[in-house]
Order: sequence, then structure tokens, then C-alpha cells
Amino acid sequence: MTLTAQARGTIAELRESVARLHSELTRNELVVWTAGNVSARVPGEDLMVIKPSGVSYDDLSADTMVVTDLHGKLVHGELAPSSDTAAHAYVYRHLPGVGGVVHTHSTYATAWAARGEPIPCVLTMIADEFGGEIPVGPFALIGDDSIGRGLVETLRATRSPAVLMRNHGPFTVGRSARDAVKAAVMVEDVARTVHIAHQLGTPVPLSRTDVDRLHARYQNVYGQR
Ligand SMILES: [Zn+2]
Repeated sequence: MTLTAQARGTIAELRESVARLHSELTRNELVVWTAGNVSARVPGEDLMVIKPSGVSYDDLSADTMVVTDLHGKLVHGELAPSSDTAAHAYVYRHLPGVGGVVHTHSTYATAWAARGEPIPCVLTMIADEFGGEIPVGPFALIGDDSIGRGLVETLRATRSPAVLMRNHGPFTVGRSARDAVKAAVMVEDVARTVHIAHQLGTPVPLSRTDVDRLHARYQNVYGQR
């Protein structure tokens, strides 16, 4: 595959940033062993940068990241791509606004996935980040497009950038890989808080109007601009 100098430069930067973002998964204790992965779409190309399969987090670097096309076929890199590559690729093919995808088996979010229970919107933080409850996606086996299809169907029906795939764990998306990592950190944090709230009683849901107001404000006003 021939790439322009600009595309090669973009890929070099994404290899760096995607490698660095994997350290956020370990720093935030979202992953064990080699589970979990981050990918980024290469803007303007039908390509993505993703973690290699089965490599220890300590050994991940820009050089070990792999580049595949949006069907998961290896384009650049020495190592085999992550076993979740097909799911990431499916999301990029079908949701053009998505620039980054993250998958983990973080403990609390995965516990909700094990019960097949959406995380209810009972905190302003959930309204801010997720715009409502965090939905559950269908059970799907790895190996074909089933996980990707389940993710895209669920993401199209929600404002949430996180989906709890049933009996599996969270997948998150964002405009960039960094946004998707942020959503992965946030979904674990609220999964834990709401779990703890459940131990002592029934968390109180926010009204739809308040959820909409909070979400609109956070998405449009909050932060440095
Ligand atoms: Zn998984």
C-alpha cells in the first residue's frame, strides 16, 4: 500500500499516542495481563492503529503497534493485531464519527455486563458523560462481525459512548482514541459508584429533563476551549 508523506506522518504520531494511551489502562487498573486494547482511526485513510495481540503492557511501544485496514487486515507491523481488531474495524466502517475505540474487562463495568444490566443514570456525572443510562449490548462470540454489529446497533440507539457487551465487558468510543480511553475510565468509575450505592438502597434516577440539560451543558460548555 502506498501512502502519502502526510499519511505516514499521521500514522507515526498515532503509533506513539496509541502506545501511550495503553498505559492509561494499566494506570487506572482497567486491565490485567494482556487483556484490553485501544485503537485509533487514521484520518482520511481506511486504516487504523491498534495494539498487537498478546504483548505485555510493559513491552508496548510505538514500534510494536500495528496498522490494519478497516477489515482488520495487517498493513504495517511485525506482530499480529489484537484479537478484537474485527470489532474495532466494524465500528470504524459503520460509524464515521468515531476516531477511537477502547475495550477492557474492567471489574465493575464487567460485573454489570455479567448481569446484563444497564447502569442507570443516577448521577450528574453519568448524565454529563453518557447522556443517560449506559446500555447493554447483545451477547456475541468473537471470531466474526457479531461483536462489531452488536456494538454499532447499540451505539446507534444511544448517546452513550460506552456499551456493556453482555457477559463480556465494556467497549467505548470517542472522537479520538483519548476520548474513548476517558470513557473507559469513566464507565468503570460510575459502575463502581452505582454498585456501591446499590448495596445500601435504591439509587434515585435523574429526570429526563435534567439529564438532557446536564448532557447539553457538559458537551458544549465544559472544559477548556
Ligand atoms: Zn474482551
